[in-house]
Amino acid sequence: MTMDTTWMAEGLCNNHPPAVFFPSDGVGVEIAKKICAECPVKSQCLEYALELRVDHGVWGGESERQRRRMIKSRRHAAASNTASAETSVRINA
Ligand code: SF4
Repeated sequence: MTMDTTWMAEGLCNNHPPAVFFPSDGVGVEIAKKICAECPVKSQCLEYALELRVDHGVWGGESERQRRRMIKSRRHAAASNTASAETSVRINA
């Protein structure tokens, strides 16, 4: 699957050095997140990073740790949806 990346041209990060979005401490993360908060393509950026499991940097206004949590909770949600769909099929069979 090829993901659309045309949104990248509109990212506010294009106006900053790339290192800003790969911070080494919490202060740096907050600086990057403030820029992302104003970005017009924030949601596309976040989906891209979640979909491709991008490990490093601030993407879509979320830190690496936050994205890991989001991926985990999506996985749990998908697993419980599958489980309830299977239960529903068994009940209706
Ligand atoms: S949300 Fe942040 S990292 Fe993503 S494109 Fe916008 S400024 Fe760049």
